[in-house]
Amino acid sequence: MPKKVYKILFASSEVVPFSKTGGLADVASALPKQLKQMGHDIRIVTPKYRAINDVKYRLREVIRLKEISVKLGDKTHHIAIKSAFIPDTKVQVYFIEYPKYYDRESLYVDPDTGTDYDDNDLRFFLFSKGILEIAKILSWKPDIIHCNDWQSGVVPLYLKTLFKDDPFFAATKTVLSIHNVGYQGNFPPEAVVNGGLPPKIFYPSAPVEFHGKFSFLKSGIKYADIVTTVSEKYAEEIQTTDEYGFGLASDLHDRTDDLYGILNGIDVDIWHPEKDDLIHQKFSKDDLEGKEANKKALLERCGLEYNPDVPLIGIISRLAAQKGFDLLEEILDDIAPLNMQMIVLGHGDKVYHDLFEAAMQKYPNKFSVHLNFNNQLAHQIEASSDFFLMPSRYEPCGLNQMYSFMYGTVPIVRSTGGLADTVKDVDENPQNGTGFTFEKYKSDKLLDVIQRAVNFYGGRKAFRALQARGMSQDFSWKRSALCYLDIYAKALEK
Ligand code: ADP
Repeated sequence: MPKKVYKILFASSEVVPFSKTGGLADVASALPKQLKQMGHDIRIVTPKYRAINDVKYRLREVIRLKEISVKLGDKTHHIAIKSAFIPDTKVQVYFIEYPKYYDRESLYVDPDTGTDYDDNDLRFFLFSKGILEIAKILSWKPDIIHCNDWQSGVVPLYLKTLFKDDPFFAATKTVLSIHNVGYQGNFPPEAVVNGGLPPKIFYPSAPVEFHGKFSFLKSGIKYADIVTTVSEKYAEEIQTTDEYGFGLASDLHDRTDDLYGILNGIDVDIWHPEKDDLIHQKFSKDDLEGKEANKKALLERCGLEYNPDVPLIGIISRLAAQKGFDLLEEILDDIAPLNMQMIVLGHGDKVYHDLFEAAMQKYPNKFSVHLNFNNQLAHQIEASSDFFLMPSRYEPCGLNQMYSFMYGTVPIVRSTGGLADTVKDVDENPQNGTGFTFEKYKSDKLLDVIQRAVNFYGGRKAFRALQARGMSQDFSWKRSALCYLDIYAKALEK
């Protein structure tokens, strides 16, 4: 039988290298790249934000898509589509241009207020419906529309309501991948009208209603043919406890037969110490001297003293409650005297900015803190650190622990979600452990695990073996992409 080649329309509100706030952007680039390499016809649709430079990324107008009318309720919006390729690949990306909604300084949050843009419902209804209109005008019938997170969570709902009788999509199936259940896109009930949806679909306990609000994510969970999330452990957590499911556990559990956990891969073209142009010095697992040179250079850049016997702990993170830094605050005075230094790169909620700022002021010889978004520095921290800290309250997959493995940087993590699926504690598994883990979300447990890690660093031979084990693992996308192909086949059988 000839191999089935799928036509996949991949919808994502952020895509590396064009736009990024978190891991979704990495996935939305790397997975399509892998699927394209495997011979599938995959195209991405994403908004054209202000920061996406037409010249740098060679965006071109698409004549046929210069003016597309998208009707939402009684309003008609005229969007234009530009097209480019993910650099050095043949993966085509369609950018939805609609300056009123997307030509803004940031993706979701108004930098003036620090809160979400108050028209995010309109922005992402337009995005979701626009995706369907683009496919129609191109006469390109996707087998699968692969939606990601709440921003495209209403695509399945549109297909099963407004486009129900449209023969163009008769054979199209939908997959919704949830990268974080904590972000749901819940809006006042009037949103139904904004989205051009029939008002009668909203009532208490309706598939689209969640605590009196219209929910993009819940709509996706209810209407997508298949739902996936980004690790097996997280798939289990979100449907069994409301804390992890953020109130959607029972809705997710209702879909248990169609809910799959697929661990993200990592893009080893971008995150690879032998190929990485963003780091001070390239290195390989057979030459960890190169790693040490990176550490030296980074410490110098950050104004910290270099001492080969003092381990460096790196943090790169969105600064949000999810990431567990409130635990660190409680034990700051206990870890500061330990034999370690810490470099933090993060951006997000003010409380955590204040926390790390205060840590650096109090212990300037121990902490170097960078409160912005800086991709180059992120690569340099991965390459330079001995340990990488992720004390997450919850973590759907987590990419940085896998990036860390590539660079011989040993993860210290709370065992939750994808962190539990990827990091094995070396004290519990001396032969095949790959990092340091703790279970209970308690600050004394975090202190304990940091102490264990720092002590382990002292026994240099065992530490080298631990690094080597991490570096020899394969987290490339191939395996995960094959799982997605199975999922597409399952969706098409429905
Ligand atoms: P999440 O998606 O919850 O933010 P992940 O670990 O899945 O967490 O992915 C985070 C991605 O964002 C990683 O690629 C990480 O390097 C990057 N990142 C996070 N914060 C920053 C920052 N301040 N500067 C540069 N990169 C960052």
